[in-house]
Amino acid sequence: ESTLYVIGTPIGNMADISLRALHILATADAIACEDTRVTKNLLNAYGLNKDLISAHQHNEREVAEKLIGRLKNRERIALVSDAGTPAVSDPGAKIVDAVRKENLNVVPVPGPSAAITALSASGFTDEHFLFIGFLPVKPLQRHAFLEKLKETPATLIIYEAPHRVQETLKSLIDVFEPSRQIVIARELTKLFEETYRCRLSDTAKWMAEDANRRKGEFVLLIEGAQTQMDKTDTEAKRILSILLDQLP
Ligand code: SAM
Repeated sequence: ESTLYVIGTPIGNMADISLRALHILATADAIACEDTRVTKNLLNAYGLNKDLISAHQHNEREVAEKLIGRLKNRERIALVSDAGTPAVSDPGAKIVDAVRKENLNVVPVPGPSAAITALSASGFTDEHFLFIGFLPVKPLQRHAFLEKLKETPATLIIYEAPHRVQETLKSLIDVFEPSRQIVIARELTKLFEETYRCRLSDTAKWMAEDANRRKGEFVLLIEGAQTQMDKTDTEAKRILSILLDQLP
């Protein structure tokens, strides 16, 4: 049956690809990918060789038409991005949208995503999380955007590029309570992987200690805001402990 397979690929460590993903990549009629060089490398690592169709941010609509034509010819097409899960801060969503509008079959094939990988190691116990992806680049817009998130009782997941990470950390400190916990996850699954958890107010010191900490790819996780109820609860516990201390 004609199908568009949306496949998650490694975010660093080449071994992080599922057997199912490899099987589909090996047997698909074609692979639509973001950067053909990156996907060629991945395929080479597994001894695969396939027709590649370049599908990036700027040609998604046209490529969608081409893929729809092929799918209507009963082909099986794989869709990948350079790293991680397509359509998550990556191209792919417009293609999937167009394919769905034609009532053609779409099947997701799960693989790594930097967001979920970082979240799993955060230790944050919030029940909810909110995926933000990249923040607005302009400082004023970034501040305004963060202001709106300040009271959100969910772990916030932010993607950041190395050349902007320090500026973003500054904005976070400006807007959020400096005592909020953050996890800085860099170079996940790679050689110099690090996940560091501290208070927002301690991030500048940590970054300054080693120039390498400012390099690589980053996911920033901010612990969710305390709800009004949590705050009341914390205050009640504080008063109770003072009172208990006074008891004979
Ligand atoms: N689609 C990808 C995913 O699902 O993970 C995200 C692609 S987005 C263009 C690239 C951003 O993802 C980076 O700037 C960084 O914030 C994050 N990222 C990707 N790989 C990473 C890694 N190995 N370690 C930390 N962050 C990573």
